[in-house]
Amino acid sequence: MQYISTRGQAEPVNFVDAILAGLAPDGGLYVPEEWPHIGPASSNESYGAVATRVLSAFAGDALNTEVIADLCERAYASFAHQSVTPLRQDGPNRFVMELHHGPTLAFKDVAMQLIAQLYDYVLAERGQRMTVICATSGDTGGAAAAAFAGADNVDLVILHPHGRVSPVQRMFMTTTGASNVYNLALDGDFDDCQAIVKALFADKAFAASVCLSGVNSINWARIAAQSVYYATAQAALGSSRPIRFVVPSGNMGDAFAGYVAARCGMLAGFEIVCAVNKNRTLDTLFQEGVMQRTPALATPSPAMDISVPSNFERLMFEISGRDADTVRAVYGRYKQAGEVELPNKVRGPLGCAGFSTQSVSNSATLEEMQAYFDDTGGLICPHTAVATKVARERPETDVTMVILATAHAAKFPETVLEATGMDAPLPERCKSLLSREEVFEQLPVEISGIKDRIQAISHA
Ligand SMILES: *Cc1c(COP(=O)(O)O)cnc(C)c1O
Repeated sequence: MQYISTRGQAEPVNFVDAILAGLAPDGGLYVPEEWPHIGPASSNESYGAVATRVLSAFAGDALNTEVIADLCERAYASFAHQSVTPLRQDGPNRFVMELHHGPTLAFKDVAMQLIAQLYDYVLAERGQRMTVICATSGDTGGAAAAAFAGADNVDLVILHPHGRVSPVQRMFMTTTGASNVYNLALDGDFDDCQAIVKALFADKAFAASVCLSGVNSINWARIAAQSVYYATAQAALGSSRPIRFVVPSGNMGDAFAGYVAARCGMLAGFEIVCAVNKNRTLDTLFQEGVMQRTPALATPSPAMDISVPSNFERLMFEISGRDADTVRAVYGRYKQAGEVELPNKVRGPLGCAGFSTQSVSNSATLEEMQAYFDDTGGLICPHTAVATKVARERPETDVTMVILATAHAAKFPETVLEATGMDAPLPERCKSLLSREEVFEQLPVEISGIKDRIQAISHA
């Protein structure tokens, strides 16, 4: 199985090279050359067994199945629930899929635990060491820290905006105690952290000297790993039952994984509602056919405060009939002008691709957290609330609804308290977090100083 770039100007590479690279050298995103037929999961297959089948199909000849089975088993052993991503019914014909049973209480763990296993295995085989860099507004950094802590062949460098992530989020990154995890707290915002990561990759000589790699949501392994829980949800609810998935969306990685599940024959049908907060870029793309650069606004659901959803590029590539020239032209224009109208070739099929979007305001998000508690007696995180609010507003139909719960309420205790007046205590297994020693270094947003620091950290 080869991987090609959405911008059409990079050499095809195999699965391992695609995931170690992250972004393709032409600036595009990797997608499989053709969609494998994977087929539905069965209700008596374990999560690890489904993950093994899915990952094997995407890896092709690059990794053998026994190796993948072993990596999946290790990755999902760190989850506190036997079914890894359990479904909980919370209304008539309505379910919540809990994606937050991993070590850092957010759905990023599902993919990151597996990515870390893949990296460490592949790098050992190659006798290579890499420096993995990760800019985070909160959840990705913690998931990466937990997953890569103690890895033999990776040094992990996490950049987070100093003083702008919640204490619980920060502690998941800074308390691993692992000698291969480095936290740099930058005196800037998340956009500054992302800009630094971009600049590090753009300096090809620097990137090569430290063997730089990235695990943000453009990495194909994340999409592949996330398509698994769509298949297990379908299997649990009956193989022919049409499901409407409601997905809290930021970079659209989670939602695009659902599209992949459908393309590979893992779902009975395909309908995804992308629930977004007041950062409406995705909504504007679908409803007005315009991609607009707007600064990210702060909301109660910070993991979804995204100005341009990166995985939209993969969707554009697919629905345009894999027209890399069109994708390249759209992103070229966008980069230059900050705004671009989608060509008809994209806009037409976008309306019938099975996706829809809806935006939820800050106040409606907080009200929903209270309303959800009133209805069910359960606390939800603010990201999940954006989705349950959207589900609530869509009239009941014959379709079964599955809402993705992307984080545990305890990861956002300040917001839960503000919205409901209640405490959201950490689950027992995470309680020690609050008493562990934190390690991070504060640095100015200054590229040469950061390069020097990474050079000193890297063992590549
Ligand atoms: C990352 C994240 C999201 C957004 O997921 P995307 O794949 O970027 O759309 C939603 N909720 C939580 C809690 C997250 O951490």
